Amino acid sequence: MKSGFVAIIGKPNAGKSTLLNEILGRKLAIVTPKAQTTRNAIYGILNEAELQIIFIDTPGIHDALTSLGSYMNKEAYAQASEVDVIYYIVDGHKGLSKDDKNILDKLFSYKVPVFLLVNKIDELSDNDLISRLAYASENYNFQEILPISALKGNNIKELIDTTCKYLNDNQKYFPDDQISNISRNFYLSEIIREKVIFYTEQEVPHLVACKIEEVIEKENKVLIEATIICNKQSHKGIIIGRNGKMLKKINDASSMEMKNYFNKKVILSLYVKVIEDWLNKDNSLFELGYFRDDINE
Ligand code: GDP
Ligand code: MG
Repeated sequence: MKSGFVAIIGKPNAGKSTLLNEILGRKLAIVTPKAQTTRNAIYGILNEAELQIIFIDTPGIHDALTSLGSYMNKEAYAQASEVDVIYYIVDGHKGLSKDDKNILDKLFSYKVPVFLLVNKIDELSDNDLISRLAYASENYNFQEILPISALKGNNIKELIDTTCKYLNDNQKYFPDDQISNISRNFYLSEIIREKVIFYTEQEVPHLVACKIEEVIEKENKVLIEATIICNKQSHKGIIIGRNGKMLKKINDASSMEMKNYFNKKVILSLYVKVIEDWLNKDNSLFELGYFRDDINE
């Protein structure tokens, strides 16, 4: 029996959530093509007969521009210092660059093995891949360097096998049937937030939060009431759309995904509310659950 904790760290869009989903084989974290859609640390648990790995999908490390930004930074680093292995994942199109250095210096200072995962190899030429790998091994002391495709599942088994060599614990931290510690409501709110970001595209920045007000499970259907919170009156208009069309799209796509989750018809009522500057008000962050202790509820 082996077990341990792995932090998945990387810039927005590197493929952290996709990797977690691929490893766990279930849509758990939220994947969208835009930056910074995973704000909280999401724990995913891989359970096999003689193995339990707890993965932490950290929020992207980035400049602290708002209080949410600095919270995310702290969160990512706090998680990284307490684990058995760190995956540092980069988008293979970009590879490592100068601005990775600060992050990596900090990660290496934790004395935790750091693996470099060069992701998206399904889209890389051999030459590009070779130059990414060479640059990494010449400039840094990664414990392991692995090319992967999180999307296509390439090299994921090798990644897990290699990770096992670095795990030392021999107890199960979670029951076998648990695949995540995030609460059901958090999961549901992330589904809605993903649809808002997806359908409103560039018009609404990612400054949108979502709060599940009520979930009532009946025999053959589930009634859900939720509020979408945005920063500005103008964003509210965009989210609702002309004649409510946008909100209907968000509602349809969200209820469809929730239906798969519950295996029952879902009737979703969505409301949109403006809380000006909610990002800079720690209080509203707290209410929305963007704090670490809350994630473990
Ligand atoms: P995160 O911000 O690091 O969590 O990144 P995501 O997992 O949300 O991925 C960002 C984007 O990259 C999404 O559009 C993914 O589909 C895409 N992506 C992730 N991994 C791969 C991969 O291995 N190959 C390709 N081609 N795209 C990928
Ligand atoms: Mg993510």
